[in-house]
Amino acid sequence: MTRKYSDCFYCGGAVREELATREYHWKGKLYVFEGVPMGICNQCGEKVLKPEVGKELEKIVLKGEKPFREVVVPVYSFSHV
Ligand SMILES: [Zn+2]
Repeated sequence: MTRKYSDCFYCGGAVREELATREYHWKGKLYVFEGVPMGICNQCGEKVLKPEVGKELEKIVLKGEKPFREVVVPVYSFSHV
């Protein structure tokens, strides 16, 4: 299933669809989605997420489904390094 993307908003380049990793922040928590279909500009690399795809991510987060896997994310405070 390939979605139609309009030309890049920033540079007017052609946008192709690829599966990429997308981070999603919700109520102070970080969620990571792998294999998310999104448009990527051939010229400048700008990523575009379709609103319906964004809605799907939101649905999964709200449902609180068991994730495929979990990772531990190191967090640093810049003022302490
Ligand atoms: Zn572009």
